[in-house]
Amino acid sequence: MHNNNWLLWALLVAAIAGIFCGWFFGHSMLAIEWVGELFLDALKMVIIPLIVAAVISGIASLGGASGGLKRLGGLTVGYYFCTTAIAVLLGLIIVNIIQPGAGITEVSQVVPDRVSGKEETGFVEIIRSLIGDNIVASAAETKLLEVIVFSILFAAALTTVGERGKPLVAFFEGMNDVMIKIVVWIMYFAPIGIFALISSKLGDSGGGEHFWREILGVGKYMLTVIIGLTMHFFVLMTILLIVSRRGRQFIATMSKALITAFGTASSTATLPLTMECALEANVDKRAVKFVLPLGSTVNMDGTALYEAVAVMFIAQAYGIYMTPTDQVVIFITATLAAIGAAGIPEAGLVTMVIVLTAVGLPMEGIGLLLAVDWFLDRLRTTVNVWGDSVGSTVIERICFR
Ligand code: ASP
Repeated sequence: MHNNNWLLWALLVAAIAGIFCGWFFGHSMLAIEWVGELFLDALKMVIIPLIVAAVISGIASLGGASGGLKRLGGLTVGYYFCTTAIAVLLGLIIVNIIQPGAGITEVSQVVPDRVSGKEETGFVEIIRSLIGDNIVASAAETKLLEVIVFSILFAAALTTVGERGKPLVAFFEGMNDVMIKIVVWIMYFAPIGIFALISSKLGDSGGGEHFWREILGVGKYMLTVIIGLTMHFFVLMTILLIVSRRGRQFIATMSKALITAFGTASSTATLPLTMECALEANVDKRAVKFVLPLGSTVNMDGTALYEAVAVMFIAQAYGIYMTPTDQVVIFITATLAAIGAAGIPEAGLVTMVIVLTAVGLPMEGIGLLLAVDWFLDRLRTTVNVWGDSVGSTVIERICFR
């Protein structure tokens, strides 16, 4: 595989320059918003064909034994569940120590538009999001989980039809390689895209001065989320070093996907790059093709941690005491809400409704978080993608090495 260290540096410079320009030039940076969107569209364009081809050819390469798929699937879901639970627990501990909501005097009285009418979101909806009644519509609407479940079923069936299935396996293998090639090409435009995305988003939110005022308002809350996410990042890094025994080179290679996650605020849009970087880091193909697509929609450690912190922050700001039992409910529902969140910008803000409703907190509380959410979203998306990347190496080590 090629070694694109220059690209990593270019992305870093682009991200820093994007923050700088967005901060100082504010709204005028909106002029290049379309460049960022073009980059985002290019990434989204390859998602569906890439995922279908990757999941099908990945499972087919397990050797036709359904036991292999069960083991891989079981371990992946189990691992993701554990790390998500660790993230929520970490969030709860930190928010109880720092108490960011204590001393907030002005609370909002209206339910933000974005979440009103979402009270019905719950456990049943999460289960139902696994199966779509029309696979073409699922693909057209980028309902990733539905597409993945269909691809898993397709691949499982494919492995049972023997010789007649071989041309199909070869077809999807070829298609996967072609899609990855396109991702490599798109990646060369990533620095320009990331610069445009970051600078126009920061500019849109009113530039540096405005952002600074927002930070002063809920700074302690932001700090709590940032401390939590940073700690979880290192928890994952420890897992990486101990379990998968990968080191600096892996982190450096994956950094390109991490910076893209920060730039796009979407684990789904970043997925093609995450897969390409993991292949570049020599992670086993079978792990990359199965673990990463699944992770991009169900494994969201950053979102889970953030939801726990945000809900407790709202309780503290409204002066509502959360008993230990309430916090157990938050623990369970935040884990589910993160699993149910789509890998798109600010999806976590919407699934947080599940947690708030479960412990009877006012939905109006979400209004407190809105102004700075676009920024925290980028940080949690980065941790989400990091969680998936580490997951692929852990599962690789357990199943394939
Ligand atoms: N934007 C996040 C992601 O794509 C989801 C969220 O927490 O809002 O991973």
